[in-house]
Amino acid sequence: MESAVENKTSSNFIKSIVVDDLKSGRVQEVVTRFPPEPNGYLHIGHAKSICLNFELADEFGGKTNLRFDDTNPVKEDTEYVDAIQEDVRWLGFDWEELRFASDYFEEMYNRAVLLIKKGKAYVCDLNAEQTREMRGTLTEPGKESPYRGRSVEENLDLFERMRAGEFKDGERVLRAKIDMASPNISLRDPVLYRISHSNHHRTGDAWCIYPMYDYAHPISDAIEGITHSICTLEFEDHRPLYDWAISECEMEATPHQYEFARLNVTNTIMSKRYLKRLVDENVVDGWDDPRMPTISGMRRRGYTAEALRAFCREIGVAKSNSVVDERYLEHFIREDLKLKAMRTMAILRPLKVVITNYPEGESELLDAENNAENEAMGIRQIPFSREIYIEQDDFMENPPSKYFRLFPGNEVRLKHAYFITCQEVIKDERGEVVELRCTYDPKTKSGTGFTERKVKGTIHWVEASQAIPAEFRLLEPLMLNDEELADKDFMERLNPNSLQTLEGFVEPNMKGVLPGEKFQMFRHGYFSVDGKDSNEDKLVFNRIVSLKSSFNPAKA
Ligand code: ATP
Ligand code: MG
Repeated sequence: MESAVENKTSSNFIKSIVVDDLKSGRVQEVVTRFPPEPNGYLHIGHAKSICLNFELADEFGGKTNLRFDDTNPVKEDTEYVDAIQEDVRWLGFDWEELRFASDYFEEMYNRAVLLIKKGKAYVCDLNAEQTREMRGTLTEPGKESPYRGRSVEENLDLFERMRAGEFKDGERVLRAKIDMASPNISLRDPVLYRISHSNHHRTGDAWCIYPMYDYAHPISDAIEGITHSICTLEFEDHRPLYDWAISECEMEATPHQYEFARLNVTNTIMSKRYLKRLVDENVVDGWDDPRMPTISGMRRRGYTAEALRAFCREIGVAKSNSVVDERYLEHFIREDLKLKAMRTMAILRPLKVVITNYPEGESELLDAENNAENEAMGIRQIPFSREIYIEQDDFMENPPSKYFRLFPGNEVRLKHAYFITCQEVIKDERGEVVELRCTYDPKTKSGTGFTERKVKGTIHWVEASQAIPAEFRLLEPLMLNDEELADKDFMERLNPNSLQTLEGFVEPNMKGVLPGEKFQMFRHGYFSVDGKDSNEDKLVFNRIVSLKSSFNPAKA
């Protein structure tokens, strides 16, 4: 079934640029890339970049590469390479080519040699701290390195020896020779290569020098014939360096860089560095913990690819940073599942009810529609008998006025079944309510058109003898958004209630549900069968989102 939230296109400033570029003939075909560093799992911010790159190319009949920016071997791993591919595919995108920046190490090296020969790069022996001190500030120009004047021959020799492994980590770098007085700090002889004697997940020990992002990125883009290289705003100042590298390295193609605002979402940590800490310190159950804002976590929680894509599309592409309300994201998953998900009844905090005038040993099957808003989903039959479970919350011994659910003497409607009246409350030694005794009225059966009496409350229930025990995980943001905690370390701002686990029951027809199946549980919200912990012996459901929110996306 087609999703209600799909198939909307909206304009953005990058699209206008593409239209102009095609019109003017700067490009014949649109080629974009999504360039993750394989140092963690993708998060919802990356989803934004993925959608932007793939959909932009797609709209103009172009293509998109998936390129791993694997230039920092210490932090990278094939586990991440695999997970990233899975996530991009799951989001619904298929890349033209799968590339790795490391595929281009040889060519990058050769182009760096070209820079040296042209007098545009030199080997510098300053250490990181000295380099930083001499770089200057926004108001003061930098100072030239004493090694800036090295001859081409000496530079070629040293660079070759860097590659050959003659020097230790940090002993030397290759720097671009641009302008130490430039008002743009990224042009003050930026480092192009560093020494790192570490094993690379793809190239092994072949290399001990690695290109810096600012050098590797433009060269990779040019090699692949990328036409529109889209990145986030913090790289705006690096654009002149991007253009410098492409031009001085005499690349054939001339990709252009465009910047857009990073996606930020309220109550959501959006940095792999922090997310990795949560994983490493076992605060969460891995990168795909349903509370994580990773794509794999959101998938496990029950978010659909359609909802994420619709969200990314609707928030648009901005040129200045802002924070999107997390409820906007929730809005899209509700919209997507509203007509698709089967509706069912589940009891999260069970309270036993005995219907004393229902014949012992008997039961019956009642019709229940699978989705009241989508008739095509048909009906199912649910058992009803003398013993059922209701929610503890749906009973109060001494209710306030306007409480329309169950209390002694009150009558309510059981969804899809009968009216029942509470006759007696059974308590344990501690005074806790453990059971209710009710009577039902056979005349009030749902669907028979009973109109003699009206009741104000409708509650849900599950027949007790056939109910399937299930675990329900209710999720809240991982971080507390408390002003008082604002300056505290991120680990001290964790929400102690981010995961609440409840043991309850679902309808018997939930037997055999599969990981990832989604349901609207009457009055509780949307749930998805957990992909890791749910099995035939124990059903586990994650709550994706509750049913209602006060949020109006039109006003967002
Ligand atoms: P993080 O800070 O979370 O590690 P990153 O930018 O270092 O993110 P990369 O793997 O380098 O992560 O990013 C791959 C692509 O995704 C880049 O083009 C980057 O600009 C984009 N991206 C990352 N985070 C966001 C975000 N929050 N919003 C939009 N795009 C993002
Ligand atoms: Mg990064």
